Amino acid sequence: MREKGRQAGAEARDRGDRTDWVSATPFIVAHLAPFAAFFVTVTWTDWVLFAALYVVRMFFVTAGYHRYFSHRSFKTSRVAQFVLAVGATTSMQKGPLWWAGHHRLHHRFTDVDGDVHSPRDGFWWSHVGWILSRGTKRTDLDAVRDFAAVPELRLLDRFHLVPPVVLAAVCWVVGGPGGLLVGFFASTVVLWHATFAVNSLAHLTGRRRFATADTSRNSWPIALLAGGEGWHNNHHYLPSSVRQGLTWWEVDTTWYALRALAALHLVRDLRRPPERLLHQARLRDGAFDIGMFRAYWERAARVAGERLVGATGGSLPAGADGMTGSGPPGAREGTETDGTGSPPLSWLIARALESADQLARSTRRYPVSTVATTAPGEPG
Ligand SMILES: [Zn+2]
Ligand SMILES: [Zn+2]
Repeated sequence: MREKGRQAGAEARDRGDRTDWVSATPFIVAHLAPFAAFFVTVTWTDWVLFAALYVVRMFFVTAGYHRYFSHRSFKTSRVAQFVLAVGATTSMQKGPLWWAGHHRLHHRFTDVDGDVHSPRDGFWWSHVGWILSRGTKRTDLDAVRDFAAVPELRLLDRFHLVPPVVLAAVCWVVGGPGGLLVGFFASTVVLWHATFAVNSLAHLTGRRRFATADTSRNSWPIALLAGGEGWHNNHHYLPSSVRQGLTWWEVDTTWYALRALAALHLVRDLRRPPERLLHQARLRDGAFDIGMFRAYWERAARVAGERLVGATGGSLPAGADGMTGSGPPGAREGTETDGTGSPPLSWLIARALESADQLARSTRRYPVSTVATTAPGEPG
C-alpha cells in the first residue's frame, strides 16, 4: 500500500514537467478575469461578496478538505460531511477525494520521493506546477478508501465543477459583472494562492518548533491568510490534531470556528494532541532536526553531484546525483572516481558536513542542554 502510494506520487512527479494546457486554460482565464473589472462598474456589494466568499470558502477548504477529509481530525454527520464537501468544491480546488488523496500522499512522503508537491522540486512546482501537471490529474482512490466508499462523495468528486459554476451564476445575479469578476473570480484567485502558499512557502519560510522529518515551518502571515494553516510545522508534527495553532497567540480561526460548531453539536470528537507531545521533539531543547539536516544534505549532495558530472565530463555513476539510493550520496562514486581526477570522497563528505554545520547554526536557537530524541507521534 505504502509502496503503491509512493509509486503513484513518483509517477505524478515524473510526468509533472508536462503541464496539461487544456485543464490549465480555465486556471489562466480565472487569473485574467479580475482585470476585466476595470471596464465595468464595481460596487461595495461586490467587495463584500469578495471578502465573504474568501473567508467562508477558506473555512470549507481548511476545515473540510484538510482537517476533515484528509486527516479525520473531527467527526460529523453524513449530511454535514456532504455540506463540507460541497462548500469546499466551490473553491475550485477539485473534488474532496482528489484533494484529500493528494494531501495524504504529501504527509506520507513529505519531502521525499512520492511527495506530490515538495519544494525540493522547486518553488513553482510546489505552488502550482503540480496542480497543472498531467501526472496529478487522477484521483488516487487507494489513498482515500474511507471516503471513496461514500457514493455522494464519489459523485461530487466527479462533478466537482458544478458547485463553483452555480456559485459564479449566483454572484452574477447578485452583483452583475462586478459580482462575477470581483466577488467570484478575484476572491477565488486569492483563495487559491493562500492555499497553495501552505504547500510552498510554509515549507520554505518561517520557524520550526518541532524536529519533524520534513521542512515544514510555522509562518504567521500564512496562518492569518489561510485560516490557521500557516502553523504548518505544528501540523506536520501533529497531523491529526484538529488544532494547528498550539498557543494562544498562534491564531487559528478554523479551530475557533470548529469549536463553535462543536458547541452547536454540528461537529464532535475534535481530536486534540496529548499534552506530553507538545513538550517533546522541541528544537529549542536540542532535538536533532533531521528534516532540515536531510534537506541540506540533499542539496549539498546535489551540488557535489553536479560538480562531479563537470569533473568527469558528463558521465555520472548511478546515484551520484544524491537523489537515489539511501546511503550517503556520492560515497560509492567517490571511491570509484578517485583515480579519474574527480573530487575525492573526503571532499564530497566535507561539503555535506559544511551544510550540516550551516543547518545546526540556523536551527539551534538555544544552547543544547537536554537532548530530546523521542519521535513525534500521532495524537491519541
Ligand atoms: Zn506540508
Ligand atoms: Zn495536512
